[in-house]
Amino acid sequence: AREWQLAARPNGWPQPSDFRLVERELGDLSPGEVRVRNTYISVDPYMRGRMDDVKSYTPPFQLDEAMTGGAVGEVVASRSDNLSVGDTVLHFYGWRDTVQADAAQFQKTPDIPGVPESVFLHVLGMTGLTAYYGLVDMAEIKPGDAVFISGAAGAVGTVAGQIARLKGASRVIGSAGSAEKVELLTSKYGFDAAFNYKDGDIVGQLRAAAPDGIDVYFDNVGGEHLEAAISAFNLGGRAAICGMISMYNSTEPPAAPRNLAQLIGKGLTLRGFVISRNMERFDAFAAEAGEWLSNGQLRYDETVVEGVDRAAEAFLDMLGGANVGKMLVRVG
Ligand code: NDP
Repeated sequence: AREWQLAARPNGWPQPSDFRLVERELGDLSPGEVRVRNTYISVDPYMRGRMDDVKSYTPPFQLDEAMTGGAVGEVVASRSDNLSVGDTVLHFYGWRDTVQADAAQFQKTPDIPGVPESVFLHVLGMTGLTAYYGLVDMAEIKPGDAVFISGAAGAVGTVAGQIARLKGASRVIGSAGSAEKVELLTSKYGFDAAFNYKDGDIVGQLRAAAPDGIDVYFDNVGGEHLEAAISAFNLGGRAAICGMISMYNSTEPPAAPRNLAQLIGKGLTLRGFVISRNMERFDAFAAEAGEWLSNGQLRYDETVVEGVDRAAEAFLDMLGGANVGKMLVRVG
């Protein structure tokens, strides 16, 4: 089996040399264990944080050990009564082509006709739940809200934009990092307006896109985007602070937001969250999202990189914005 290890802790932007692909012998299966061949592995922004040796909500990757993360795969050998050869399973042994471990570490995916297994790594999985929980539970979205979403063309952002609409938003605005992504937001994902933050003047572009202000902000980016949202907020505005990807590779503290004093006058609420601590909302999310998906109200994109040997490259490309929707590695 081949697995990715962290060879060095990145300083700023990770380099290909910070990662190493190694061969590992898998021994015989012990009683209760299964062997799983991964089909898709997930590369996610939060993994950047796990590359630093700091205490956080997920423990750091250890140097020279296999990295972990979300993956789906197929059981190819089993010494467990609970899983059979051919079962599709969701688990946390990503960053490798094959794994064997106790069957309890793997969760059988539900069989939904017409739904490929990859969606359990995004729309019907953690990224979908993140979008849902952020909007519904953290920002407490209500009909008539004007909603702004940053990182809008990514995995969480595309789902958040559609859920905002489905929950009755009066106006949905998105920002993303290319003209093509901006076009996709309005053409495919139902955003009313979108802009390219790389064109600069985020405050001005947001004001033009939301002339009547915003009521909800779903933050995937932090920094200047958060500052722009604070200045565009109407009274009583609410933000779900989901991620701050603009800071993940920076070695300096951020310059923005500089306008936090507006929280007072406008009575704003900013709520941060970590989705893995809120799994009790999964069933409610899956019930709604499953229905939206099956009746065509929830669309998605995947950017698929072929081959486990390209997982580090896929991760770096995702940080650089090469993905539309969810960035995945197909193991093949
Ligand atoms: P995405 O699919 O959105 O991929 C990351 C995207 O971030 C890139 O495609 C790129 O798009 C954008 N990006 C990169 N650098 C910058 C920058 N400096 N400024 C603005 N945008 C940038 O990833 P996810 O959907 O998986 O995650 C989105 C956010 O949600 C992340 O911040 C992540 O940490 C967070 N998250 C939080 C969770 C929680 O529990 N709180 C759970 C899951 C995700 P572009 O071309 O537009 O720049």
